[in-house]
Amino acid sequence: IVLVVATLSGIAVFAVNLWNNWRGQAGDAFTRAVENQEFVPYYQPVFDLFTGEIRGCEVLVRWRRENGTMVPPGQFLPYAEATGLIRDITRQLMAKTVEDCAAIYRRNPHLKLSINLTAMHFNDLEILDEIQDIYGDSGIAFDQLCFEVTEQHPLKDLNLSRAIIGRIQALGAAVALDDVGTGHGGLAYLQKLGVDIIKIDKMFIDHIGTDHSSQTIVDTLVELANQLGLGIIAEGVETQDQLEHLKRVGVATAQGYVFSPPVPAKAYLEMLEKGAPA
Ligand code: C2E
Ligand code: CA
Ligand code: CA
Ligand code: CA
Repeated sequence: IVLVVATLSGIAVFAVNLWNNWRGQAGDAFTRAVENQEFVPYYQPVFDLFTGEIRGCEVLVRWRRENGTMVPPGQFLPYAEATGLIRDITRQLMAKTVEDCAAIYRRNPHLKLSINLTAMHFNDLEILDEIQDIYGDSGIAFDQLCFEVTEQHPLKDLNLSRAIIGRIQALGAAVALDDVGTGHGGLAYLQKLGVDIIKIDKMFIDHIGTDHSSQTIVDTLVELANQLGLGIIAEGVETQDQLEHLKRVGVATAQGYVFSPPVPAKAYLEMLEKGAPA
């Protein structure tokens, strides 16, 4: 028995070491990726459903590995958030939006640019300095910016988050509540945070026309936004039917594959040049 236990614990220790070692290496590679600034913004254009014009975009992070592969955020954000590296990544990403977009945004003051922040950002006043350092005098004006707070992760301190949102708005930028109705907070976040815009998640848009309850939720969110005087953006719109329904209930702004997936800077700028009135 002693021998069996000793052998088993030996195997267990070996397995744990192997695991930690692997994690350490993966962690090192990721930390190096942050140091090497391997994170790039992709841009998904947001459209006016009634005029067909581009209103602006949502910035979506991609990890461009040294070998050229593009890694989507689902594969690294949990780690980036758990380690706090998301703060560096977000800072790099915002700086790159200035390099990519400042010139055309300066010429087209109606264009908007939306950045995803994480729960951690809404628990620390530091983000306010970062926004001002990066965007102040950048060519992208504060009133062209929107910052998205997601319901997917719980906010630690609602009063502090509310204060940070208020200070972002005082700069002239907007704040949107992302993924409304899919995660924590729900209507409490809507009531307490004082956001300007709500984003209707793909989860609900997907079932327009096929599932009565999803459609009712979309209609009710639109009604709620109207009653509260909030802007509304539908995301993940993939079909013409979904588009028609959104227009019928008065949603004027949407993004989704029916228009365009997220694209690299060059492609986004080309779309703007083509779409922008001469
Ligand atoms: P999200 O903020 O809800 O972004 C929308 C996601 O839906 C994006 O996935 C986008 O590519 C995808 N999408 C847009 N339209 C369609 C459509 O018509 N059909 C389908 N099937 N998908 C569509 P992505 O880029 O993989 O991002 C996933 C999530 O990762 C985002 O969800 C957001 O929560 C997070 N994320 C992305 N970039 C950042 C970032 O820079 N910072 C932070 N903190 N989170 C980010
Ligand atoms: Ca978002
Ligand atoms: Ca969303
Ligand atoms: Ca979503």
